[in-house]
Amino acid sequence: MIGTTQHTLADEIIQSGIGLHSGLKTTVRILPSSGVGRYFVRVDLPEKPIIPAKIQSVVSTTLSTELAIFEEINHFKISIRTVEHLLSALTAMGVDHVRIEIDGPEVPLLDGSAKIWAEAIAEVGLAITSQTTPVIPITQEIIVRQGDAFVAAIPSDETRFSYAIDFNNLAIAQQWHSWAPDREDFTQTIAPARTFVLEEQIKHLQQAGLIKGGSLDNALVCGDDRWLNPPLRFSNEPVRHKILDLVGDLSLLGIIPQAHYLAYKAGHHLHTQLVQRIQEAALAAL
Ligand SMILES: [Zn+2]
Repeated sequence: MIGTTQHTLADEIIQSGIGLHSGLKTTVRILPSSGVGRYFVRVDLPEKPIIPAKIQSVVSTTLSTELAIFEEINHFKISIRTVEHLLSALTAMGVDHVRIEIDGPEVPLLDGSAKIWAEAIAEVGLAITSQTTPVIPITQEIIVRQGDAFVAAIPSDETRFSYAIDFNNLAIAQQWHSWAPDREDFTQTIAPARTFVLEEQIKHLQQAGLIKGGSLDNALVCGDDRWLNPPLRFSNEPVRHKILDLVGDLSLLGIIPQAHYLAYKAGHHLHTQLVQRIQEAALAAL
């Protein structure tokens, strides 16, 4: 993940599926880079607009991370939703520069994890690229908080992601996981962890016009005290999924800086705020 040699894909990946919130079927074609960084291209729209996978593109963090640009003349929003699982897989697997073509407004949820993306990346492999982006150093603690939730970047000799969640629900309850990418394989330990939702939230989300593509096949659903669609892939699958999401959101920095990332009861909103703060600190240090 860290280093001066940067990579793109050795070959293209094509994958179709249904978007969690829109319920729309889209096809994603991931190509070796013809530009710098990771960026989306809405190939279904005239002019094929480019949406960089950067913090500046974030327009919403409600339930998933949404990126967008605004059309010059009408200020029409051109967006791409639920980018975090694909970006997490690309980043964790070392794909620094890549063109992601998509023919609709939302990345397919697939099985609710990053497993299919990670396996596809492993299958095609990486190629060294001459494209480069700078790596931001983390030289002092940076923390963002909201109530008792927080996420922090702490200077460290190795990159590590540690996460804790605490739900007032017997099936999830308190969970903790810590992952060091250099020691444990992303494909085995993080990528298979699926997104999860509380049964009591589903009706509310549906009434808000969300999760039109949600089903028992692409999310773990938790009742009052048990899972409705077991078995789990890990006993602490939910907190591992939170790490997956955190890596996806941190990928909006380009190369994830070497640090220990520590989160407690956080989510996309706090994750992206941390990204913002890291970027501001890097600019201030110039
Ligand atoms: Zn997620």
